[in-house]
Amino acid sequence: MSLLSVRGLRKSFGGIEAVAGVDFDLEPGELLALIGPNGAGKSTCFNMLNGQLRPDGGSIAFDGQPITGLPPRVVWRRGVGRTFQVTATFLSMTVLQNVQTALLSFHGRLRSFRPWSSRLYLDEAFALLELVGMAEQGDRLCSVLAYGDLKRVELAIALANAPKLLLMDEPTAGMAPAERIELMRLASEIAHERRIGILFTEHDMDVVFAHAARVMVLDRGRLIAVGTPRQVRGDAQVRAVYLGS
Ligand code: ADP
Ligand code: MG
Repeated sequence: MSLLSVRGLRKSFGGIEAVAGVDFDLEPGELLALIGPNGAGKSTCFNMLNGQLRPDGGSIAFDGQPITGLPPRVVWRRGVGRTFQVTATFLSMTVLQNVQTALLSFHGRLRSFRPWSSRLYLDEAFALLELVGMAEQGDRLCSVLAYGDLKRVELAIALANAPKLLLMDEPTAGMAPAERIELMRLASEIAHERRIGILFTEHDMDVVFAHAARVMVLDRGRLIAVGTPRQVRGDAQVRAVYLGS
């Protein structure tokens, strides 16, 4: 049984078929890339998977259960995580407090939280920071972090919810090339170690081809190719519509 099974997924906006019947499976521990030109329907796919958008048709099964059309909070509770941008309030907290807050929220204990004194989930928070290579910066305010470091904190926060599947829509947007490669190398390592499935979009083809186990190419709402990076790279249709030969 796959971790995620998507069949016949579709969504239109007015007259535009943004997603026009998409089928795919994702396995535990797999790093799967969804690529395609701007407007291909990638974000629309993500938003149906995380519950933000109700599909017009098709089905989404996660961990053996249907999740099609369920609200975001329920989908998230089932174990579908995604990275959120650290917002203004959280920028004023330390790295460690942010991860601790995420853990408290996950365990339903946010209301008892006093960031300046709480030792709840401190070890777990440290372990997650260690995992993303941010343990030494735990006491720094998020507002002073380098952009790439902030992205790693966001990853730790997403992992605090113990997801089985992580959805990352353009996780490396705004990052320098070296930081992109580093973040996706880290994501790939975590996917393998924790058996988390990761679906991600990415514009930088070097990053995609270096890290994804499989690549799906979306064009005008339809998957035109699915395969290993090598297979997709050599696909004539993909080269024509996307890579521009
Ligand atoms: P991608 O993420 O691959 O760039 P999107 O999923 O954002 O593509 O968009 C796919 C198509 O759907 C585009 O034509 C876009 O203009 C349209 N679209 C996306 N979201 C909406 C919306 N909320 N309302 C109307 N049209 C939308
Ligand atoms: Mg998008």
